[in-house]
Amino acid sequence: MKGAFRVAKVAGIPVEVHWSFVLMGVYVIYLGQSLGMDWSTIAWLGMLVLSLFLCVVLHEFGHALTARRFGVKTKDIIISPIGGVARLEKLPEKAIHEFYVAVAGPLVNLLIVVLLLPYFFFYSLEEVRFQLATIYFSSPIQIIPFLLIGNIVLATFNLLPAFPMDGGRIFRALLSIKLGRLKATRLASLLGNFFGILMVIYAVFTQSIITGFIGIFVFLLASQEYRMVRMDETLKNHFLSEIFRPNFTRIFATDKMGRAIEEMKHGLEKNFLVFDENDEAIGVLHEMFILEAIKKKDNEGPVLEYMSRNFEGVSPSISLQTLILKMREKGYSILPVFEEGHLKGVVDVSMINNFLKLQQKVS
Ligand SMILES: [Zn+2]
Repeated sequence: MKGAFRVAKVAGIPVEVHWSFVLMGVYVIYLGQSLGMDWSTIAWLGMLVLSLFLCVVLHEFGHALTARRFGVKTKDIIISPIGGVARLEKLPEKAIHEFYVAVAGPLVNLLIVVLLLPYFFFYSLEEVRFQLATIYFSSPIQIIPFLLIGNIVLATFNLLPAFPMDGGRIFRALLSIKLGRLKATRLASLLGNFFGILMVIYAVFTQSIITGFIGIFVFLLASQEYRMVRMDETLKNHFLSEIFRPNFTRIFATDKMGRAIEEMKHGLEKNFLVFDENDEAIGVLHEMFILEAIKKKDNEGPVLEYMSRNFEGVSPSISLQTLILKMREKGYSILPVFEEGHLKGVVDVSMINNFLKLQQKVS
């Protein structure tokens, strides 16, 4: 993601930290200073905040690893001052799988709470209460009660039954079984808007800037989830046959790159199919390859040397959702459309983008 730096890769999933996380450090120092802490206490406070974010990372791995069990990959896990997000490649197909994936995050926090409970063998409730009230720690182990409460807050906040919190996903998954995903998402996202507004009102009364920001985020992200699911539903219900182009320019393997460059400059097409002398599609020329030839001023270069053989034929009856997933996953820019063994036309990324733009205008 833009503005995020990779700090680790665990179980094949990159963990990235957004640059704004630095603000967190500034805030810790500011908070410590304004509470009159000495530098060593501020250092412990910093460690507490880092430990809390480590718990957020573990929470996200709860989602990511559960998703993997149901065949859904995670692109990355991004940590920012307002929390973490595991970016799944898609939603799990079955509602019950979504339920497990959503619930796994808060469960990790509750598990951490249970693991930290033995602290109370060593300190009485009175001592802990005093410690919490005075924000006092003299050794690393004394950040534990704060960590414990932090994890309870994380689990509780995330279980609010509204988007974009996990509780919203749990709520949506359960509703989906009866109402279908679209209606269920509409309800969960409206509830998210409602919670967002409540948080902003609460923030105004308590003059808490952070709560206000989180409220605005919750409000916006709740609507975004609905738009995404609606788009997904649209793509499921539209088919390649509606968008593919029957007329297209043929480039031949025996051509020179100069021809592809001319076609790209003077036509609307940017990606091309490449044919052999038997008029058989044998490869593709991505826009990127043509731009490379332009850069190298290689007009005489043979198309055969530039083209890629990585492509597959698609049927006009596949849904746009399947098509987009396939093209994104394999990095295709153009594909031939075949029906009963006959070449009917081509589909390229620009047609999909046009369709998406149009849908956004219509809805
Ligand atoms: Zn979560």
